[in-house]
Amino acid sequence: MPALTLTHLSRTFANGTAALGDLSATIADGAFVSLVGPSGCGKSTALRIIAGLDEPSAGAIEWQGARPEIGFVFQEPTLMAWASAGRNVALPLELEGVARAAAAAQARTALANVGLAGFEKSLPRELSGGMRMRVSIARALVAEPGALLMDEPFAALDEFTRAKLNDDLLALWTAQRFTTLFVTHSVFESVYLSQRIIVLSGRPGRVVADIANPAPYPRGQAYRTSPEFNAVARDVLAALTEAHG
Ligand code: ADP
Repeated sequence: MPALTLTHLSRTFANGTAALGDLSATIADGAFVSLVGPSGCGKSTALRIIAGLDEPSAGAIEWQGARPEIGFVFQEPTLMAWASAGRNVALPLELEGVARAAAAAQARTALANVGLAGFEKSLPRELSGGMRMRVSIARALVAEPGALLMDEPFAALDEFTRAKLNDDLLALWTAQRFTTLFVTHSVFESVYLSQRIIVLSGRPGRVVADIANPAPYPRGQAYRTSPEFNAVARDVLAALTEAHG
């Protein structure tokens, strides 16, 4: 069953910038799909439109049934500096009317799910970049969203931390099966994570390839250098190269 159908989405801003040219895709319920393309091709714009934070200039978005709760993770963890990790995660729930004690309990569970049990009271500045991103993921998942939209969430992290967060994200996705749209400009990250990679051209972004990755999960370290991985990465690179010359 498709969770989400995007039909000829495009977005031209008031200043005349044509950001997104043509994005059509049907995303299955519970799928993990990456959007790959060069900077400025409209990937963030597409995510913002799907999240309902922006409107397309043309085209349509259709969710199966009602639009689900959506979690959003940005490249910057965007935590409130004055608030503990626990409060940062609990606040969205409190804003929805959940009582403070119940929200704190849910936040504790969400932090434990991202490997941060016991860090509820830590302030963002006391945490590493990877841990701050974990808090941001916990905040996105605390309300148990049906869909998770991620906008280059790991781009600022070192390689090792990034690989660890890739695996931890996949473990969460395998357990909870939220429909995931993951924006990255790393071909290798997109292949490692996804069941499917949608490749966009340069601005205005349009779909130039839609590549399936049938490798089973869990994928693990050995997969990163396997012939199966390389075959899909080669296809994604070829599509990008063809689109950009
Ligand atoms: P990506 O995520 O692929 O790097 P974006 O979706 O962030 O690309 O941006 C696509 C293009 O649209 C960029 O050239 C960007 O500068 C431009 N853009 C983004 N938001 C706005 C806006 N609100 N007004 C005008 N131009 C914008």
